Amino acid sequence: MTIYPAAPPEFSCGICQRPQKPTGWRWAGEYPIPPVCRRCEIDYGVGIGGFGDRNRDRRIIRQISALAAALTAEAHKLNQNKEPRYG
Ligand SMILES: [Zn+2]
Repeated sequence: MTIYPAAPPEFSCGICQRPQKPTGWRWAGEYPIPPVCRRCEIDYGVGIGGFGDRNRDRRIIRQISALAAALTAEAHKLNQNKEPRYG
């Protein structure tokens, strides 16, 4: 018998600020992990496990790289005297 993890709680993404509400059952490997939504994790993060990797530890590493990329973009915009994109 497979034990499925609980769906993640409702949270707002740390990059795009979109609310992430728990939806119906999905495959547990695709659940968003707070504080970054799955879309931002894929778009901004650099994966180290190859295409389609859903290992949770490597997903968290990917989230950290996504947050670092967002902070780098934010710092670059502030350095260029442009409006901040996030937050
Ligand atoms: Zn997001």
